[in-house]
Amino acid sequence: MMETTYAMFIFAANMHYKIFISNPAEHFIGVEWLIKNELKATLELQLPAWRPGRYELANYAKNIRLFSVKNNKGENILFKKITKDRWKVFSEGQNEILVQYEYYANQYDAGASFVDEQQLYVNPVNCLMYVVDRMGESIVVELDIPSSYKIACQLPAKDKLLYAQNFDQLADSPFVASASLTQNTFQVDETRIHFWFQGVPCPDMNQLISDTSSYIKVQKEIFGDLPCREFHFLYLILPFQFRHGVEHTDSTVIAMGPDTEWGNHAFYNDILAISSHELFHLWNVKRIRPAEMLPYDFSKENYSELGYIYEGVTTYYGDLILLRSRVWNFSQYQLSFNKVLQKHFDNPGRFNYSVAQSSFDTWLDGYVPGVKGRKVSIYMEGMLAALIADIMLLKATNGNARLDQAMKLLYEETFKKGIGYTKELYKTFLEQTGRISFDTYFEEVIDGSGNIEKYLKRVLEDIGLTYIFEENSEGEQNVKLLKMSNINDAQQYLFEIWGGL
Ligand SMILES: [Zn+2]
Repeated sequence: MMETTYAMFIFAANMHYKIFISNPAEHFIGVEWLIKNELKATLELQLPAWRPGRYELANYAKNIRLFSVKNNKGENILFKKITKDRWKVFSEGQNEILVQYEYYANQYDAGASFVDEQQLYVNPVNCLMYVVDRMGESIVVELDIPSSYKIACQLPAKDKLLYAQNFDQLADSPFVASASLTQNTFQVDETRIHFWFQGVPCPDMNQLISDTSSYIKVQKEIFGDLPCREFHFLYLILPFQFRHGVEHTDSTVIAMGPDTEWGNHAFYNDILAISSHELFHLWNVKRIRPAEMLPYDFSKENYSELGYIYEGVTTYYGDLILLRSRVWNFSQYQLSFNKVLQKHFDNPGRFNYSVAQSSFDTWLDGYVPGVKGRKVSIYMEGMLAALIADIMLLKATNGNARLDQAMKLLYEETFKKGIGYTKELYKTFLEQTGRISFDTYFEEVIDGSGNIEKYLKRVLEDIGLTYIFEENSEGEQNVKLLKMSNINDAQQYLFEIWGGL
């Protein structure tokens, strides 16, 4: 078979987007989108209403201005908005259609878009539209940027052109273009890992490379393979306090600050924690996906009760793998675990609403504290639910199997077979792994509320751990994870297996 060249790709691509820096001082990017081979009487253009990784509506269309549609003679074509983010174009059989608009890119976080005099940072899911029913067609994105700019992106790039096989891949491929980007590349087995830093880079790059390699290897062992040849960490290091990460198929964007904290252990460990979490998503949600999100529907809410798997299991493994890979010692792990416990015990919502219901409702108020006592966090409660399942499996199999095996089954039996997973399938794989029933676990920990602590206390005890409450000087209750003083051999044995110690 003849190898596809870039020239052939451009020729074949029916969707050609050009992104330019139209007004950096006021943070506007310009978009010119040429749609080829459009012969229908009308077509519908949809801008995503949300982005994967944040399961709530973002309404990106509020950032669009100066929208117009022209034919290849430069004449205006009629259009009409039919929803808040869908445009109907009366194209009347035109072969080529040019859509133009400006997008307000003034939000600097791991999932948004930002432009100024120094950089063009774009999450295409925010600002590029698709033709309804033509999402599967190949795409070229041309960047009109200064010649000194480098480009950090998971998509193949050449001469300021990015190539995507379809809209899903484009939507999942954020990029940073800037003259000040730094790049470090290293190898983990067959995969090339790229660190890109926009802002102050890590002062001890060798340490970061060594720690990253260690946790990647443990994650890879769990699933049996690292399913990409290249993986990109796009680090945005900001001058102010910030912590945000977003996962993608072959990359992640991590925004952290303040940059003055680089010398501080806590800051470095936080970067490792968020990076390990985002890398785990490479399998858990970017490949292992709830059936109701396969494929994503960018035009509306994609409800799912499974946030305790895609965020909870990921939050659990993100930190635990740093312990299991010896990047962290147990006291570092305790510090992070204490924060989860604290958030759990500070939230009266745990008596009122299950983690499954809270997952469904992320579309309503998942990313704000919300009304007191209403709901729980899929991250925190999901993490504790994953811990409980992991230790139940370790106990039931005397340390021979654990959540790792159930997650690997999900990977092999769903992603590798091209399907999404369900709650029932996850439960089946847990039960298959431990040869025990998970009926009451799902009734009480996942679908119930108020009973999780009974399980938590018991499983922690199984590995020789417990938690205590201490009053601080302000009279607040602080909760702390502790190793119990007199533990038996069975507890010590499971503790060591659990933590890879
Ligand atoms: Zn996550």
